[in-house]
Amino acid sequence: MDAAGRALRLFREEFGGEPETLVRAPGRVNLIGEHTDYNEGFVLPAAIDRDLCIAVRPRPDPLVDVRSEGRERRAIALDRFEHRVGDWSDYVQGVTWALSEVGYRLVGWDGAIASDVPVGAGLSSSAAIELATAKACETTAGFRWDPTEIATLCRRAENRWVGVASGLMDQIACARGRRDHAILLDCRSLDLELVPVPGGASIVILDTGTRRELKSSAYNDRRRECEAAARELGVGSLRDVPAASLPISTASLSPPLRRARHVVTENARTLAAAEAMRAGDARSMGRLMNESHASLRDDFEVSSEALDAIVEAAQAADGCFGARLTGAGFAGCAVALVDEFAAASFERAVSTTYARATGRTCTAYVCRASDGVSAQSR
Ligand code: ADP
Ligand code: MG
Repeated sequence: MDAAGRALRLFREEFGGEPETLVRAPGRVNLIGEHTDYNEGFVLPAAIDRDLCIAVRPRPDPLVDVRSEGRERRAIALDRFEHRVGDWSDYVQGVTWALSEVGYRLVGWDGAIASDVPVGAGLSSSAAIELATAKACETTAGFRWDPTEIATLCRRAENRWVGVASGLMDQIACARGRRDHAILLDCRSLDLELVPVPGGASIVILDTGTRRELKSSAYNDRRRECEAAARELGVGSLRDVPAASLPISTASLSPPLRRARHVVTENARTLAAAEAMRAGDARSMGRLMNESHASLRDDFEVSSEALDAIVEAAQAADGCFGARLTGAGFAGCAVALVDEFAAASFERAVSTTYARATGRTCTAYVCRASDGVSAQSR
């Protein structure tokens, strides 16, 4: 049973009767443009057809009573925001806090959550639960929905309430995704453009099965290195470094300059990838993804043995246009662009090669770019 069916079933078990609305919020994958967001550059994510769902019914008192599959039920008061609880419900509470703080008047609801977005794999289950919560609030309270504003408030909930430093990409992808399109987002201006995924190409997410415990400290190290590199180069952010001003050769550059070279070349690749997609050119898009992986591995140094192994296995498989690590790196997932007719054999080939190289099991998700968060009356 998919997440929607499980959310409906859970609702009946927990709250009795029927929900009024079913909310769906997708996970996302970043096709290219990695570690560029906090350098005010470009990213190219797509929402995917794996959803987190909430079955929702309004209630008369100012309380959000939520249960998520496999987790403890929580009651969140809407008339006083006290503190974080330290568990998953902080995401729900954080969003109600962020909405209330800017003046949205919320009403209470009962909600049952079930999800097909794997947690902590880099597919942004966190943005999915945030946007789904915001949508549940919208459907019960009936306020005006501006997707970029809501995405910004969800990010604020994650940054300030939950306490996770993250950019806006995840929430924008979840809020503004479109079927068969990716989103070219300028992280400085927040301008965005929908670009079509080349026809006949599937997006395949490959989970290495590895998770890095201290990912956030390594991530913070890279952010600091980028700030240092920007200072060294005399710019406010690495977005403003002209590509021509950096040595292209692989000659020994200092670590900060290698970080800078990744960001500068990755921005150029992301814009080129959007151009390739507009032209329906999966081959060029794939080549850029391969180059992105090499740059993340050699210049930005955020790959790992498992990520390199899975990317190599993908790149060598029939029908693969290109592959790279996706997300912050160090562990987690890779993404590949694959001929849709070869997707099944691709999955088998990567699993076999990856298992032989690492002794690990790969989980593959063959995805289609999908619409952003939505609500459906029952
Ligand atoms: P991801 O890469 O999946 O976004 P994060 O660490 O940013 O990983 O967010 C994961 C957190 O989001 C979980 O630890 C949990 O608190 C919350 N979360 C995600 N999915 C669910 C769910 N289905 N039910 C409850 N909480 C969830
Ligand atoms: Mg997250």
